[in-house]
Amino acid sequence: MAAPMIICRACLTKFSNISRNVHRNGHFSQLLQRHRYSTAASNYDYDLVVIGGGSGGLACSKEAAQFDKKVLVMDYVDPSPQGMYILLLHPSPQGTKWGLGGTCVNVGCIPKKLMHQASLLGEAVHDAKKYGWNIDGNHDITWEKLIEGVQNHVKSLNWGHRVQLKDKRVEYLNAKGSFLDEHRIKAVMANGKEKVITAANVVIATGMRPRYPVEVPGAQEFSISSDDIFSLQKPPGKTLVIGASYVALECAGFLHGLGFPTSLMVRSIALRGFDRQMAGLVADHMQGVGIPFLWTCVPINLEKDNNGQIVVTYQNTQTEEIHQDVFDTVMMAIGRDPITSNIGLENTSVQVNEKGYVIGENEQSTVPHIYAIGDILESGKELTPVAIRAGKLLAQRLFGDSKLHMDYTTVPTTVFTPLEYGTVGLSEDAAIRRFGEDNIEVYHAFYKPLEYSVAERPAEQCYIKMICRRDGTQQVLGLHFLGPHAGEVIQGFAAAMKCGLTLDTMQSTIGIHPTCAEEIVKLHITKRSGLDPTVTGC
Ligand code: FAD
Ligand code: NDP
Repeated sequence: MAAPMIICRACLTKFSNISRNVHRNGHFSQLLQRHRYSTAASNYDYDLVVIGGGSGGLACSKEAAQFDKKVLVMDYVDPSPQGMYILLLHPSPQGTKWGLGGTCVNVGCIPKKLMHQASLLGEAVHDAKKYGWNIDGNHDITWEKLIEGVQNHVKSLNWGHRVQLKDKRVEYLNAKGSFLDEHRIKAVMANGKEKVITAANVVIATGMRPRYPVEVPGAQEFSISSDDIFSLQKPPGKTLVIGASYVALECAGFLHGLGFPTSLMVRSIALRGFDRQMAGLVADHMQGVGIPFLWTCVPINLEKDNNGQIVVTYQNTQTEEIHQDVFDTVMMAIGRDPITSNIGLENTSVQVNEKGYVIGENEQSTVPHIYAIGDILESGKELTPVAIRAGKLLAQRLFGDSKLHMDYTTVPTTVFTPLEYGTVGLSEDAAIRRFGEDNIEVYHAFYKPLEYSVAERPAEQCYIKMICRRDGTQQVLGLHFLGPHAGEVIQGFAAAMKCGLTLDTMQSTIGIHPTCAEEIVKLHITKRSGLDPTVTGC
């Protein structure tokens, strides 16, 4: 027999006052649902416990607290990149740790964008001379000063997050959380003290950490990862970046721009998953500015020589030739693994896939009251705004009346390489796969940013591509922009695409002159026509 539902006096009054309306619009069942939830929740220490205080976890916990719920978020940075890959006696090559806020704030978007900006400023100094500024002598970067500035900003954000949690009455524990069972969580504080907490609902938001190639001798001991680069105490010097996706390309890009000789080791292709033509142009640009790409190469051994430099032995997998070179710094950027192997999931029925991502739909795991958001979610996208939005929407669904789910499609993103690449929607390759080549139209243009003219900068890779359906209103399926401030340019178009942007709307939009973004609304040459897509004149 089902347990009788106990309804408190306040709720009963509320129900009777609004019963006429709620029955009509279906809110009655929602109210009952919430009432059931809150009586259940009172048996636990917290309505919600969030494990992981990064982009997603903080957003979710703050939003949940707005509904007057008792919320706790715990965050802990383990210097070990991923327990399962690293020998316990040798936890991390660098042992870097950081404060509240997760990857984005401490070792991701924020310090990365600041370093990218520092590198762009270096280019701007060159441009400034061409514009007539008298800038004499060499200009080089004082790495320590850059790191100090970046880290000061990061620390201010760590502090800001603590203040916000306090303001919003979210309890915060600097502790490592793991499941004892599906409602009990063990929190281990930095001083080793333990506490067991019970929760009606749990959100896992533990994020990801860099992967190391365990099969390569010396890789763990002698290389660093993106977790270390933003607080590196001495200048990196001659650097090898291994990997060829977002993290690798962005880091190689800013290191080169800051004046450090930087090479990139690419196992197969650059920017897997992105539009192939655009990825090719990004790589061409980076090579053009002086970053050697060691194509189809993989490391096979790293060791330190007597000068403290790192000797890297690597193989070209196509020719099978073995090469050696010496670097001051080797940075591994070969991907990141979700932190799910050491959080006690074996004590629950939460399922993960073979790579460790939490399986589930609409952020709900295979256990109804345990949820997952952000990077660790199988069906998600590893980007900060995605984690934040998913976390907020989840809290609104859990504790408010919302039924809104996260839309993981049409998520815009930008790769902050020296020439930035912003994109939203389908790649040309994906559009062809989905609709067939005859059913899409690709509009494109090579353009020269006005700012490049006086500065005499080459603009061979400044390129825009828009993929539309060929039938009906020619809906825009994908937009790709390679050029300055790509993130700023693409953001607004992403909103337009959410509204169902069509070719006609795009072409009837008035441009803002003189900008790079106006070249998007001016697109009119199709790839199919074979006409020269180079923009000439205004
Ligand atoms: P995280 O932000 O990683 O937070 C997880 C938190 O949980 C961490 O603090 C972790 O230490 C903590 N934790 C782990 N285990 C436990 C435990 N057992 N107990 C308590 N706490 C625990 N995205 C963008 O949108 N734009 C960018 O420009 C961008 N640049 C990036 C650059 C780099 C170098 C990297 C690595 C990533 C970048 N990203 C960028 C991706 C972005 O940082 C992530 O998508 C985002 O941080 C994911 O948020 P999250 O909440 O899932 O996890
Ligand atoms: P990815 O998983 O996207 O890429 C891993 C790269 O490393 C690939 O180029 C891969 O090559 C290569 N690789 C993998 N294993 C090896 C190996 N054993 N030896 C040599 N190379 C190897 O990881 P990232 O860390 O770059 O990015 C993770 C996520 O973080 C991204 O998906 C993104 O969502 C987010 N991010 C977002 C940023 C932004 O918004 N600007 C910036 C940085 C990160 P192959 O193609 O051959 O497999």
